[in-house]
Amino acid sequence: MHVLIAGAGIGGLTAALTLLRQGFEVSLYERAHHLEEVGAGLQIGPNGAHVLHALGLGDALHHMAFRPEAGEMRVGTTGRVIFSLPFDDTVQRYGAPYYHLHRADLQAILLDAVNSHAPGALHLGKEVKEVRQDEQGVTLIFTDGGQARGDVLVGADGVHSVVRRELFDIADGHFSGMSAWRMTVATERLPKGLVPPKATVWVGPGKHVVTYYLRRGELVNLVGVVEENGWPYEGWTSLGGKDDILRDYSGWHPIVRRIMEAGGDGEFYKWALRELPPLDHWSKGRVTLLGDACHPMLPFMAQGAVMAIEDAWVLAEQLARHAQDIPAALSRYEEKRKPRATRVQAVSRRNGKLYHQHSTAGQALLYSPLWMVSRVAPDFFAGQLDWLYGEDVTKG
Ligand SMILES: Cc1cc2nc3c(=O)[nH]c(=O)nc-3n(C[C@H](O)[C@H](O)[C@H](O)COP(=O)(O)OP(=O)(O)OC[C@H]3O[C@@H](n4cnc5c(N)ncnc54)[C@H](O)[C@@H]3O)c2cc1C
Repeated sequence: MHVLIAGAGIGGLTAALTLLRQGFEVSLYERAHHLEEVGAGLQIGPNGAHVLHALGLGDALHHMAFRPEAGEMRVGTTGRVIFSLPFDDTVQRYGAPYYHLHRADLQAILLDAVNSHAPGALHLGKEVKEVRQDEQGVTLIFTDGGQARGDVLVGADGVHSVVRRELFDIADGHFSGMSAWRMTVATERLPKGLVPPKATVWVGPGKHVVTYYLRRGELVNLVGVVEENGWPYEGWTSLGGKDDILRDYSGWHPIVRRIMEAGGDGEFYKWALRELPPLDHWSKGRVTLLGDACHPMLPFMAQGAVMAIEDAWVLAEQLARHAQDIPAALSRYEEKRKPRATRVQAVSRRNGKLYHQHSTAGQALLYSPLWMVSRVAPDFFAGQLDWLYGEDVTKG
C-alpha cells in the first residue's frame, strides 16, 4: 500500500514513521522549502512519549529533552502557589516520562528517523492544491502543476488544511479571542535558579503565562496568552516588541518579567489562537485527516501535538489491520480517535476559563478548592489526569 501524507509537521512526520513501521510505502509532501519549526517549546506528556518510545526514539528524546519535576499553577502577580502536581512518579504511574522539548529538536529527531528509514520519502516545496479520488486510488495536485498518486491520503496539513477543505468544504476556523506570545531565552541570560524546574502556569484576569525549561535546561520557554478584542494584524503571526509584552504583564511576578526582559529584539512573536468546532467526520473514501487538520485546539492542555502523535499510531495500526478495505480502516481510526481528541479540545477550552478568572470572587471559588484538594488528597488530584496521561495507544 502506498500512503501519501500532506504536511510534514510533527503529525505528518510521526505518521510517516508509524506507517513505515507497518511496512507501507510512504511519500510525504510539504509546502515549505526547508523544514523549520518556530522557536518555541512543546510539552510532551507520557501518553505522547509512549508512541515516540515505541518508534525507537527514546534515547534521542532523553538526550535532548528537559524533564520537569512538577506541574504547578501560581497566581501571576503574587506568585502564590495554587497547586503543585509532582511529576517524579510519572514513569511509575504511566510508564513514560513527561518531556519538555524544543520544537526544532523534536522535528530534527523525527526527520532523522524518516530519512534513515526511507531516504527520499520527503518531498519539500510541494504545496497541495487539490485532491481527487476514485475507486482505484487518490491523486494529489500541487501548485507547481505536479501530481502524485497513491492508495491512501493523510491530510496532516495543520489548522488551515487544504485537504480538509477539499474533503468537506470546511475552511479555516475562527479567531478564539486570544493571542499567544512565544519566546525562548538562553538560561545563562537569567539569574541562576530564577526559574523553577517545573511546568508553571501563572494565572490572572484575562491572561496567563506558562514557563518551563527546554533542551536539557539550556533554554527557558515562555508562552503568554492574552484575551484580545480582535486580531488587527495581517496573517496569523506578528512580530511584537518587548515593551508590548511587558505592558501586557505589567505588575506580574518578577520571575515572569525577568524572563521577558531577557528576550532580545526580534524575539517576541505573537500568534492568533484559532479554533474550529469538532468536525462531523475526519475521513471520506481513501482520504483522512490527522492532527490540527481535524482537531485544532487551544493549547491549554499542552496536547495538540501529542494528539497528532497518538493519531499517527492508531491510523497506521488500523490501516495494517484492514489493509483490504481502506474506507473501513479509516472509519475505525476515526471511531477510535475522535471521542478522545474532542474531549481534549473541550477541556483545553475550559482550562482557558479556569486560568483567566476575571473576578476576585471567581478566583476564590475556583482556586481555593484546588489548593485544598491538592494538599488534602494529592493522589485524587493527580488521578484527575489519568484518563489523559494513562492512555497508551501502543498497547492497542
Ligand atoms: C502557543 C502554543 C503552544 C503549544 N504548546 C503545545 C504543547 O506544549 N504540547 C502539545 O502537544 N501541543 C502544543 N501546541 C499545539 C501544537 O503546536 C499543534 O497541535 C501541532 O503542532 C499540530 O501539528 P500538525 O502536524 O497537526 O500541524 P502543523 O504543525 O501545523 O503542521 C502542518 C504542516 O503542513 C504543512 N502544510 C500546510 N499546508 C500545506 C499544503 N497545502 N501542502 C503541503 N504542506 C502543507 C505546513 O507547512 C506544516 O509543516 C501548542 C500550540 C500553540 C499555538
